[in-house]
Amino acid sequence: MRALSARGSLSAAQIARLTGLAKSTVSMALAELRRADVVIEIGSDAAGSVGRPATTLSLNPEAGTCIGLLIGQSEIQVIVADVAHNVLTDTSLNLERDYDPEHAIRLIRELISDAYAEQWRSQAGLLGVGIAVGGPVSNSSGEVMRGGIPRWTGINLQEVFGPIFDAPVFIDNESNCSAIAEMTWGAAQGFDDFVVFTLDLGVGGAIVSGGKVLRGIAGGGGEFGHVVLDPDGPLCRCGNHGCLEVYASFIEPLDEARRHFGQPGLRISDVVQMALDGDELCRGLIKDAGYAGGRGLGLIGSVFNPPLIVVSGRLAPAGDILMGPLSEAFERYSLVKSGDVGEETRTILRPSQFTDNGGCMGAVGLVLRNHGGPLH
Ligand SMILES: [Zn+2]
Repeated sequence: MRALSARGSLSAAQIARLTGLAKSTVSMALAELRRADVVIEIGSDAAGSVGRPATTLSLNPEAGTCIGLLIGQSEIQVIVADVAHNVLTDTSLNLERDYDPEHAIRLIRELISDAYAEQWRSQAGLLGVGIAVGGPVSNSSGEVMRGGIPRWTGINLQEVFGPIFDAPVFIDNESNCSAIAEMTWGAAQGFDDFVVFTLDLGVGGAIVSGGKVLRGIAGGGGEFGHVVLDPDGPLCRCGNHGCLEVYASFIEPLDEARRHFGQPGLRISDVVQMALDGDELCRGLIKDAGYAGGRGLGLIGSVFNPPLIVVSGRLAPAGDILMGPLSEAFERYSLVKSGDVGEETRTILRPSQFTDNGGCMGAVGLVLRNHGGPLH
């Protein structure tokens, strides 16, 4: 059941491989779960198989729901999904930067009860709540740490949300949740070891090793944006000078585009669209951010030499405009050059599949992977 919860749908053979249980044990357990209507058959996967096609199974969607929450820099989002990985509702609200926590918690409660009412479902079968936080958060206590959303600093999310729900609450930062979304449904499917590199207004990332997100002892792992490239460089919001984020953040390029086009409301997605439509200024801004990001990524490549790097954030949909200069800088600044190794040991760089709701979907994944105790 945990394997099906984590992966969504699997064949009996895949369950046996994933759990290490004998095939006979798995088929006995599945027969019993199907009789009890906990597991259902969702089709046959005949593609590429020899002889009898493998039956694909999933948990019964009626067996339970989970909630994914995003507490972002200037937005909140609520996704309700069932245990078979179907998204039932997905709602988000834009708030002013540095919004009031109490007001936001009230809004979140309203969004959740509306979502269930809309689906005519009760929260009785709630398996858990996952929370993605737009900044560092302590994974032991659930306390929002400095450097994230200023007015939330010091708030213990476990204490705030625990008593609201009759189900366990799982908390992680947005980047780590994005990594879970990419691993479960996106660009990192089939990879147990990879790095996520986020280029957006902020620069961040996540490290996954052996199918687990490496959070670090205080929850500060994978904060690639604050690797110091030049201690004499410009001041970063974290208080240090010359962090990677200072060079690769899209804050200044976005301001430049806003001034150039005389549109103060221009968003990153607008700049990406104009670049894709051939606008030279927008293309140049994205290329420069890609090259600056790739330079930092070279350093990360030298540390981890990962099989896969997923480039996420709202610049990712720019595709080759971003990935070209980013790959070029990565190749130049990382130790292992792609020409030195065989194809099967070359680091793959690819854009993420999730751009907008990766964090919140990852919060859903956090519940699906952990509610019965982790698989690994
Ligand atoms: Zn910094």
